[in-house]
Amino acid sequence: MPTLTTNLTGWGRYPTYSCELERPERYVDLSSSVHSQIARGQGRSYGDAALNENAYVLLTERVNRLLELDVQRGILRSEAGVTLADILEVIVPKGWFLPVTPGTKFVSLGGCVAADVHGKNHHHEGSFGDHVISIELILADGSQLLCSSTENSALFWATVGGMGLTGIIGEVTLKLTPIQSGYVKVQNHTAENLGQMFSLMQDAMIDDRYSVAWIDSMASGSLLGRGVVMCGHHAVEDELSNNFHSTNIPKINRSIPFDCPSWMLNSSSVSMFNALYYKRESGKREPFISSYDSFFYPLDTIGQWNRMYGKRGFVQYQCVVPDSLAFEGITLLLQKLSASRRPSFLAVLKRLGAEGRGMLSFPIAGYTLALDLPIRDEGLFVLLNELDEIVLRYGGRVYLAKDARLSADSFCSMYPRYDEWLKIKQRIDPENKFSSSLSRRLSINEGTR
Ligand SMILES: Cc1cc2nc3c(=O)[nH]c(=O)nc-3n(C[C@H](O)[C@H](O)[C@H](O)COP(=O)(O)OP(=O)(O)OC[C@H]3O[C@@H](n4cnc5c(N)ncnc54)[C@H](O)[C@@H]3O)c2cc1C
Repeated sequence: MPTLTTNLTGWGRYPTYSCELERPERYVDLSSSVHSQIARGQGRSYGDAALNENAYVLLTERVNRLLELDVQRGILRSEAGVTLADILEVIVPKGWFLPVTPGTKFVSLGGCVAADVHGKNHHHEGSFGDHVISIELILADGSQLLCSSTENSALFWATVGGMGLTGIIGEVTLKLTPIQSGYVKVQNHTAENLGQMFSLMQDAMIDDRYSVAWIDSMASGSLLGRGVVMCGHHAVEDELSNNFHSTNIPKINRSIPFDCPSWMLNSSSVSMFNALYYKRESGKREPFISSYDSFFYPLDTIGQWNRMYGKRGFVQYQCVVPDSLAFEGITLLLQKLSASRRPSFLAVLKRLGAEGRGMLSFPIAGYTLALDLPIRDEGLFVLLNELDEIVLRYGGRVYLAKDARLSADSFCSMYPRYDEWLKIKQRIDPENKFSSSLSRRLSINEGTR
């Protein structure tokens, strides 16, 4: 297979590594590589999970055929390189939706399994892997194995959330969710501080199938943690007036054509944006109907929005703190952030339900905070190490799909099922053929802790 040497990054555009790219055109070519490699879907993980410095990266984007859709039962079988955007175009008009979706639809099916992604419904419906019926996994020796929660189940749960390190996911069979329309009925609730935010997120009376909170990361003192909780469900026909059609066709209508200068996002501009956004969203007191695109994928309307952070890129820091200590832990994290005066353009809080079944899956029952932080100087990494210490102290963990800088020791402490995972990895991939820049940084294949 021809290869191309190029500099490659994740969505955060940090770090950059020279990688050898391979792009198989057909499913059968997926298993023909003999050297060490890592699969890459749409490169929407933020850090180095889909990078392999001075080694091979296998692009799955052309292996993207939808193979079978059972419209009666809502079961989809597809090659793993297909994007969620392509799937939605086919399934929404037929009355089905993804069981779990991340905040962008420009990700691959394989990437969603490998990171065991979570969505706004995690507190009710778990993560992506909980809805996968089976996968076809291509192993280090080139053989293929069907894995599910009943067949080769240990390998299945090592692969769900396993960040591509157990093999190449070639095919996925997924159970879909029935919907009556392509719209979502949304209700916003305003919180003036973090205490109110937690009360709202725990209030069963306002809870809905989906919920997510936007936080004003620049607010401090008595306003620390102020923001808006957005709850919603797929609108049923009775909730739609005649003006709404049952589907909508997503499109990108704007794009950031160049790298913005790094001074553009400073604490004043972010504070101003946050104050305006808070005012606008908290003003929406009545329920309203939104397209599924606007509700689930607001950032997708701006192509290449990652360029907004300038040439040096940014880090998305996403952690989870377990339920019982979440209020205290998240308060400390926000206080540290606010004191650092480092602007986080985006700060999102989500409630997570039961722990993921994948051995290296991120979710645990608790609250997850995600922050987008531009890289200006090395001081950012000092701050992030301090955030890690808080997360560790409170029994939480950092999300590998977003990570670019966690230490190997912190990883080991945060992921208690690593030893169990490693035994499976060493059995099925004794020569460590599947490795990435992330796995080497975190010493993931290098023995027990
Ligand atoms: C705007 C935005 C919003 C997001 N919101 C969320 C969110 O709400 N929840 C959430 O959980 N995540 C979220 N993410 C993260 C994203 O969903 C995950 O990083 C996902 O894995 C990206 O899929 P991808 O196809 O781009 O994978 P890549 O970035 O290409 O790869 C990610 C990992 O998956 C592995 N992989 C990819 N394809 C395969 C395959 N075929 N076989 C084996 N391994 C494979 C790679 O080796 C790598 O380890 C968001 C990302 C962005 C940019």
